[in-house]
Amino acid sequence: MVNKIDHVGIAVRDLAAAKEFYEKVLGMKVTAEEVVEEQKVKVAFIPTGDSEVELLESTTPDGPIARFIEKNGEGIQHIAFRVDNLEEKLAQLKAAGVKLIDEKPRRGAGGAKIAFLHPKATFGTLVELCERE
Ligand code: ZN
Repeated sequence: MVNKIDHVGIAVRDLAAAKEFYEKVLGMKVTAEEVVEEQKVKVAFIPTGDSEVELLESTTPDGPIARFIEKNGEGIQHIAFRVDNLEEKLAQLKAAGVKLIDEKPRRGAGGAKIAFLHPKATFGTLVELCERE
């Protein structure tokens, strides 16, 4: 089952400047920040209601977020849906012939289990599925 939008991932060039906008201008609050080495990214989480904004800054010029910005500019990079059982969901999607980037869950920011679906299978949006304890 897909429960809700867990978060929206936004690629930015300058995490400090983006955080300042969300905090000082919009009056929101950054509650967690972390570096995810595997994805070469520095992440800041900003909860709003039952969901979060995930700001993403690349830690290297060749990381996936740096490449995304080079190609598309800054902006929404992915949308993440919360699921109850990620392994089961991935197995269902695979059986249905859906193109996946991750066939097995991997570790995302905040200790979540995550997997990405291929944008070719999702009408152009990079979709992340996310399971949290
Ligand atoms: Zn995400």
